[in-house]
Amino acid sequence: MPSYDYDMGIIGGGAAGLTVASGAAQLGAKTLLIEKENSLGGDCLHYGCVPSKTLIRTAQVYHLMKNSGAFGLPAVDVPPVDFQAIKKRIQAVIDKIQKHDSEERFCSLGAKIAFGEPFFRDEHAVQLNGKTVSAKNWVIATGSSPSIPATEGLDHTRYITNKNLFYLDDLPSSMIILGAGPIAIEMAQAFCRLGTKVTVVQRSGQILTREDKDMADEIMKVLGSEGVDFRLNASVLHVKDLGADKEIVLKDGEGKALSLKAEKILVAMGRDPNTGALGLEGIGVELDRKGIRVDDRLRTTQKHIYAAGDVTGAYQFTHAAGYEGGIVVSNAVVHLPRKTNYTFLPWCTYTDPELASVGMNEKRAKEAGMDYSVWTEPFKDNDRSLSEGEETGKIKLLLDKNEKPLGVQILGPHAGELVSEWVAVLNAKVKLSTLAAAVHPYPTLGEINKRVAGTLLSRKIFSDRVRKGLKFFFNLKGRACGEDWPVT
Ligand SMILES: Cc1cc2nc3c(=O)[nH]c(=O)nc-3n(C[C@H](O)[C@H](O)[C@H](O)COP(=O)(O)OP(=O)(O)OC[C@H]3O[C@@H](n4cnc5c(N)ncnc54)[C@H](O)[C@@H]3O)c2cc1C
Repeated sequence: MPSYDYDMGIIGGGAAGLTVASGAAQLGAKTLLIEKENSLGGDCLHYGCVPSKTLIRTAQVYHLMKNSGAFGLPAVDVPPVDFQAIKKRIQAVIDKIQKHDSEERFCSLGAKIAFGEPFFRDEHAVQLNGKTVSAKNWVIATGSSPSIPATEGLDHTRYITNKNLFYLDDLPSSMIILGAGPIAIEMAQAFCRLGTKVTVVQRSGQILTREDKDMADEIMKVLGSEGVDFRLNASVLHVKDLGADKEIVLKDGEGKALSLKAEKILVAMGRDPNTGALGLEGIGVELDRKGIRVDDRLRTTQKHIYAAGDVTGAYQFTHAAGYEGGIVVSNAVVHLPRKTNYTFLPWCTYTDPELASVGMNEKRAKEAGMDYSVWTEPFKDNDRSLSEGEETGKIKLLLDKNEKPLGVQILGPHAGELVSEWVAVLNAKVKLSTLAAAVHPYPTLGEINKRVAGTLLSRKIFSDRVRKGLKFFFNLKGRACGEDWPVT
């Protein structure tokens, strides 16, 4: 029986790697985690979720200040933002969260943390800082990096990505964003609110292409009304660095060439897996179009080497990376075979209003050739929403032909929080009648969840059939409105 230095070796100290490290170490596996940067936390903490959500909140407060009149408050003359102060706040939030992801914390759980860039020498051993270290099982959790298109001139132009966006010295006066996925759209709104003139350039005719068009179009309308300029169906012909400004020449939907100039170009056109420096080709770990190829137990083409998180290219979210980390621990440490199941994996785009999704939307149901019906409820009919000054958006509940829920999409205030009730309902297979009957506090945004389920059921409860039955058994007299007062 071969002997190894560690039971579990992990490469990458982001959401996926840290979940595996915590689980494996606490279960008694001798665990090594290797991270190439000098702190743990990965993209989410340093260049992703945390700085972006902190910036979004700052931009939202600034937007509210500028729109105080809408709340019956005096109009305020707000000065321009100081991006250095915003950066300070972002860093302070990162520093607080960094404590959860510290070397000391993982050491206290029992895992050894090493810093450096490892390279696989064989299927069980890596070369790290001049030493060879072996493990029985390995997990590759190296995440992803911004995908840079091969656009003419881009390689000679100073552009930015999520790696430096939150660390700029000043607020850019203007910014062209290439791409219209969640990162692009969240940042378009936040920077526009802070005072940057933002243009979004998108190849296709829809932003947030994974979402239903009606929901994505509503977000585009809101951002458009706040000042974001959208160029859809646009292909970028070439890019040029003009010094203080950068130029993008694109072909618009009608085939006309158009030149746009801005101080900054933000490239947000998807993500590439971080696999380059690991030496995977030498040990038989194969890649596919999206990233490291894994089976549904997250085993790579070398069964004792697992991959989790963005590096597989599946669902590139922090909560998906954490979920996958748990699957790896179950399979590799506890030896309980567990497969991934993404049927009810939720996600949210943190624009204002937010767009949250769990299960199927119309797009995915159509692609799957499913027969479905849609039930909706607008936020303008929710009392809390009105008192908050939030009237945009709706909830969409998709049902299959047997009226079983397929999925829920919510566009509205705090949609990311509201969708959690549906995460529980869908995972636990709770009946819609149970949700409709459950008392929700008034006035809350959450009542919209109960109400959309109730609308569906009220069709059955208040049917002609039920009315006729009640009339027959209890002699009910029917409609009162429209009749004259009874004469005594
Ligand atoms: C701007 C932005 C906003 C986002 N917002 C959200 C959000 O709101 N919600 C959400 O769920 N997701 C969000 N994401 C996505 C989220 O950040 C990722 O899905 C998540 O970080 C993936 O976790 P991971 O562990 O796979 O990778 P990472 O967190 O990137 O961790 C990978 C780690 O591996 C290290 N590494 C890489 N190569 C090597 C190597 N060769 N050797 C050693 N270490 C290596 C890296 O330094 C890094 O620390 C956002 C992403 C971006 C860019």
